[in-house]
Amino acid sequence: MTQRIVLLPGDGIGPEVTVAARTVLESVCGDQIEFSSHPLGGCAIDEFGTPLPDATLEACLAADACFLGAVGGPKWSDPAAAQRPEQGLLNLRSALGLFANLRPVPVFDVLSQHAPLRPELLEGVDLFFVRELTGGIYFGDRQERTGDAAYDTMSYTVAEVERVAHVAFKVAQKRRGKLTSVDKANVLASMRLWRAVILEVAKQYPDVEVEHQLVDAMAMHLMRRPSDFDVILAGNMFGDILSDEAAVLAGSLGVLPSASLGEGKLGLYEPIHGSAPDIAGQGIANPIGAVLSTALMLRHSLAKDAAALQVERAVRKALADGFRTADLAGANETVSTTEQMTQAILDRL
Ligand code: NAD
Repeated sequence: MTQRIVLLPGDGIGPEVTVAARTVLESVCGDQIEFSSHPLGGCAIDEFGTPLPDATLEACLAADACFLGAVGGPKWSDPAAAQRPEQGLLNLRSALGLFANLRPVPVFDVLSQHAPLRPELLEGVDLFFVRELTGGIYFGDRQERTGDAAYDTMSYTVAEVERVAHVAFKVAQKRRGKLTSVDKANVLASMRLWRAVILEVAKQYPDVEVEHQLVDAMAMHLMRRPSDFDVILAGNMFGDILSDEAAVLAGSLGVLPSASLGEGKLGLYEPIHGSAPDIAGQGIANPIGAVLSTALMLRHSLAKDAAALQVERAVRKALADGFRTADLAGANETVSTTEQMTQAILDRL
């Protein structure tokens, strides 16, 4: 059966890394997939006056999986502007009901000199964040400043925690069977509910070892002993902060992929980096975050686990064989363009 992939190249380096993602998917899936490309973000504002045109949303809703390059850039960053590219992405995530954000943080041995930690601390690090994406303090009741006060509210329901917990436990089952749930149960009522729900859901996954960490301690453990963790599950804000903190372990923003999932198989896959306006149009962006996002797509939306592994191995091999885009290259290393790095990965698939 043909599977439909919607490509959302977006802005800046988005279209450049989308070409890499498409080529890799074509290489592993052949004619089993069909692509269509749609505007999202700044380019959609320019063409249609809205960052998420109806036709783009309809195509995404009807797809098996969506791939996003990146959105945004200085042209659309006026704070007073009526339309902003990032709003298109937030509306898309919400319209697709994507409540679980998956962010693996693979640490490639050959890149460890780019990370700020001592190389021996990075040995064996292979983290996988699952962040709740549509609840918690970013979506709670809020009051903008009135006089000298303003507030935001962190709230979670049992159902919101349960559904993201199931995603995280299933990911842990497919990996090393270890899950760390992050909360602040010693202070916050919503986080006591979080911990109670995780304890309850854990009973359905006896093959997964579970531990609970307070978010402040976890921020420290991630830098002192990152190799002790496998899957890390956190609410919206804590997951946002910790996954960015952990991203530095990988050495470059350009190598990190992500997936956003909902109840069904449909997911939105994107590299975690932005539109990188400083290097856009030069053909030098690192395509690895985009390519590894296709591996997540193959695994989580297209039921092609073996192909996902092949893509991940091809990336590792290209790096091990010395291919480096500008963001990864040391002083005496040869620099590959986006196209050359993509070709190096394809050659090893
Ligand atoms: P950024 O991730 O675009 O860039 C940060 C730095 O990392 C830049 O120096 C850039 O050149 C470099 N970089 C990023 N991706 C790279 C890659 N693949 N290869 C090589 N180098 C890479 O973050 P920013 O500069 O803060 O944001 C730029 C724009 O992107 C803003 O408009 C922001 O809102 C938007 N943004 C979009 C997304 C998204 O689409 N999901 C995410 C983050 C930021």
